[in-house]
Amino acid sequence: MSQQDEYQGKPPPSVPGSSRAIVIGGGIAGLMTARVLGNHFKQVLVLERDNFPDGPNLRSGAPQGRHVHLLLLRGKQILEQLFPGLSRELIDNGARLIKMGEELGVLTYYGWRVQHAGKLSLLTFTQPLLEWCIRKRLTEIEAVEIIGGCRVNGLTADAKGVRVTGVRVRFGNTRQREHQLCGELVVDASGRFSRTPEWLSTLGYNSPEVSVVDPFLGYTSRFYEIPSNFSMPRSKWKALVLLGKPPDYTRGGVLLPVEGGRWHVTLVGTAKDYPPNDESGFIEFARTLRSRALYDAIKTARPLSGVAGYRSTKNRWRHYGSYQRWPRGFIVLGDALCSLNPVYAQGMSVAALEVMVLDKWLREYEWDQDNGAGVALHVQKELAKIIETPWLMATTDDARWPATEGAPTGLTTQMMHHYLDAVIALATRYPKVDDLFARVVHLLEPEYMLFHPRIALRAFARLLNPLSSVR
Ligand SMILES: Cc1cc2nc3c(=O)[nH]c(=O)nc-3n(C[C@H](O)[C@H](O)[C@H](O)COP(=O)(O)OP(=O)(O)OC[C@H]3O[C@@H](n4cnc5c(N)ncnc54)[C@H](O)[C@@H]3O)c2cc1C
Repeated sequence: MSQQDEYQGKPPPSVPGSSRAIVIGGGIAGLMTARVLGNHFKQVLVLERDNFPDGPNLRSGAPQGRHVHLLLLRGKQILEQLFPGLSRELIDNGARLIKMGEELGVLTYYGWRVQHAGKLSLLTFTQPLLEWCIRKRLTEIEAVEIIGGCRVNGLTADAKGVRVTGVRVRFGNTRQREHQLCGELVVDASGRFSRTPEWLSTLGYNSPEVSVVDPFLGYTSRFYEIPSNFSMPRSKWKALVLLGKPPDYTRGGVLLPVEGGRWHVTLVGTAKDYPPNDESGFIEFARTLRSRALYDAIKTARPLSGVAGYRSTKNRWRHYGSYQRWPRGFIVLGDALCSLNPVYAQGMSVAALEVMVLDKWLREYEWDQDNGAGVALHVQKELAKIIETPWLMATTDDARWPATEGAPTGLTTQMMHHYLDAVIALATRYPKVDDLFARVVHLLEPEYMLFHPRIALRAFARLLNPLSSVR
């Protein structure tokens, strides 16, 4: 019997004398969280409202799984650290390894990035495959129980609301009665539409300050069969990323080979230039991208799915790290804490970085009622530090579109745009610059590396004389 069936309609028994942690949400962030909590708690319950599919299939609670998910290299590193051999497992299940220098064609704001024999490789697969592989790995960890069909309706707390003591849940359908589950630590990883602000207010806490930057971006995606013997003209490309070009050219697209011999194609429109959700509109939108490479690949390929759209893409950061008073034993992470414009492909990797912060704190403070639970606010503050750079990267780029609401403005942002433009232009010509730029974008290097004198001198030369050869 699966854990899901076992718990239909009744709560799981607690392990006698155990310390228990509860994770709300069985998405990528919740699953990674469970992995690290498994090192510190005798029992870890992952509570997910969806019933999990048996295979690598889409589920309604994670509709973003219909759309291209690129795993940045820092995220890949951390996942491999948490689940050794995971990359191999993904490849065995059909994920593809793409040499970034040679096989990934990127049309930047300033033309195609230079093709070169770099060392970096991307793994390409769908989000449901990643979730499924991680779920399988978690079943090997004795402490962790993943429970589907279990909706969390709220938090429970001590009489003064100082300490979160567990959650209120309903198993199965809404006719089932509500149960309380106790835990020494509760982690909210319930995604973009997290109800933590409302739950906190029930316990007598303020609503969080929220930063929102909305570039009004929409996705539309479809799967295609990769035609046999397909090769892109005049290149070794196996995957494509075609960017728009601010301020006017709002359309972009991504084509990735994924498991099942398929291309996963996502079209992107910014500033409300949403890609259409119908078949002919999809292909027509693809034809109007800045390069025809993606359109030429799919125009005669066999579609394997319908066309699916998604528009809940704004950057939203709930500043829980700024609270003066925060409930003990409660942490919020993943998209529930900060969801980023998906076009920069940072969400899973930022969640991975956050989970490592949690792990670090748990290692430093043995989690007991009097000590560990009070650490939650410090963790929340450190999570905020992790988010700063990806937030800055995403929102600074979103600020290039005049229609973006809430974007940073002012001289610093404009100077950043000019400087980054110069670096991107250099990356279209010089493999070393391209390599470093990729390492920063993939969160392997801090962003200040882009200001290394070797790059800065060339970038400033270009800024002072855009027509110069910048050698
Ligand atoms: C269109 C799109 C494309 C994206 N592309 C990329 C990309 O290329 N690269 C990348 O790294 N990231 C990408 N992301 C972001 C990425 O999907 C997330 O950042 C990442 O998966 C972490 O999400 P999460 O686990 O925090 O939340 P989610 O994946 O949303 O998971 C939250 C889970 O909580 C469950 N849940 C919600 N409420 C309750 C409740 N009350 N009780 C129980 N369960 C509940 C939900 O059913 C869901 O399963 C993209 C996002 C979108 C929307």
